Amino acid sequence: MRLRHLLLATALCGVSGGCATRVVEPPLLRPTRPAAASVPIAERPMPEKIVKAETEWREELTPDQYRVLRRAGTEAPFSGALWNHHEDGVYQCAACGQPLFDSRTKFDSGTGWPSFWQPVGSNRVAEKTDGSLGMRRTEVLCSACDSHLGHVFPDGPAPTGLRYCINSVSLDFANRTEAAGE
Ligand SMILES: [Zn+2]
Repeated sequence: MRLRHLLLATALCGVSGGCATRVVEPPLLRPTRPAAASVPIAERPMPEKIVKAETEWREELTPDQYRVLRRAGTEAPFSGALWNHHEDGVYQCAACGQPLFDSRTKFDSGTGWPSFWQPVGSNRVAEKTDGSLGMRRTEVLCSACDSHLGHVFPDGPAPTGLRYCINSVSLDFANRTEAAGE
């Protein structure tokens, strides 16, 4: 197939000395790669670690986002944009865009914070023991950029029994179509 194209290109080189023939690679010879949209989020490789100076984060994020994401703050319950949000899609890290939680795992915990029973992939979040406020809790962070998301508690619904209690301000929502195209 390729040989035939090369022979054709050679034959078309005129006697004038200029060879203007372009050999176009036949489509079948191009490597085929599945589109990103066809790979479930949970099976996609984790993005590379994102490391930025605190001054950069401070410039990029709103003051509320910076206080929660980079200073492990907590928004007031029932105050965020997403605790009562019910659209179909994916919740991403507001600092770096990594997909974190699927709306299909969101449930109404009655706490006033967005609550999920599992992340989109176990490698999407990191957990750290948090002994602040005189309590022993498990902090949840974005695994790509180490931003604070919230906490995880062992009092969630089936099938995991976990409750990821996440600040709205730590999340951006992308509907199913937007999320699949990324
Ligand atoms: Zn992140």
